Amino acid sequence: MRTQRTRTPHADTTKPEEATPLTRKLNRRDFVRHAGLGMAAMANVVLTETKTAQASSAEPDADAVGVLIDLTRCTGCNSCALACKVANRKPNPEVAPTELSNDALTYVAVEKDAQGERRFVKRQCMHCLHPACVSACTVGALRKTIEGPIVYDAYKCIGCRYCQYACPFGVPTYDWNNPLGLIHKCQMCFQQRVATGKPPACVTACPSGALRFGKRRELLAQAHAEIATHPQDYVDHVYGEQEAGGTSVLYLSAAPFEQLGFAQPGSSPIPQTAEAVMALTPVVALSVATLATGMHLILRRRQHRDNVAPVTWPETKED
Ligand code: SF4
Ligand code: SF4
Ligand code: SF4
Repeated sequence: MRTQRTRTPHADTTKPEEATPLTRKLNRRDFVRHAGLGMAAMANVVLTETKTAQASSAEPDADAVGVLIDLTRCTGCNSCALACKVANRKPNPEVAPTELSNDALTYVAVEKDAQGERRFVKRQCMHCLHPACVSACTVGALRKTIEGPIVYDAYKCIGCRYCQYACPFGVPTYDWNNPLGLIHKCQMCFQQRVATGKPPACVTACPSGALRFGKRRELLAQAHAEIATHPQDYVDHVYGEQEAGGTSVLYLSAAPFEQLGFAQPGSSPIPQTAEAVMALTPVVALSVATLATGMHLILRRRQHRDNVAPVTWPETKED
């Protein structure tokens, strides 16, 4: 295996960003507003019985952006994961996460290849070209932008968790502690950075050149060029070129991806399957998800009451 390569750190330093709808604290007025929107959205689903998400049919833009992750350059320093926490105003920004969660939109897994060698693998949303989460979302809370990133609108989300079930990479996490049950996932720093021409915070923070941001088609060409130039350093496979119909996050690796815990979803877009299922059972599935969520919240409240925990509302201070 090639020794770790180093590259001059990027000059741009990561700064705290504006709070997104994902991270914004909810006050009571927000709660009522969300509840109203959620009920209206659910009513819409129940009445029409035909609503399936729309954005999956959008063809990827030729200039869509992406991130190339070169695992042979990753040192496992966690700068990316910590910068992500800062950029997204997550708690404990000095503690490296070990899994995707509401408080961590990316993390660096430590995997072992077939030879027992440690490999660092940054994981986050893959930003699929044909995102199953978007297809599964009945209310359009997840959306594929023309630039590539898959973004989330907390105001539209009804907490049904369809996106969680649909995602072939196990990415979205669900906030059980929030009365509105919000979803959390990487949005490729779209609103805070990419939409204004800046690279994502994690890319900027990486001191090893393991993360590269740019147009997906150019990153793909660069990845294949790296493999051709250094065939001894890489497996001949760019993960994300074909997986699940293609993703905007691409990986290069020295070890076969299946040895490093990468999902093997095949090369067909997942939305085709998700939409077929959704078209058949929208009301039943939504009812089950809503019921499960309601039961969970009731149980949590009982647990709080039995523990004589004080009832606390989300912060009431206006943004
Ligand atoms: S990886 Fe999952 S959450 Fe991310 S875009 Fe694809 S389907 Fe959606
Ligand atoms: S693109 Fe932004 S939100 Fe996604 S992992 Fe990187 S820093 Fe986090
Ligand atoms: S900052 Fe770069 S080198 Fe450090 S863990 Fe993240 S991807 Fe790997």
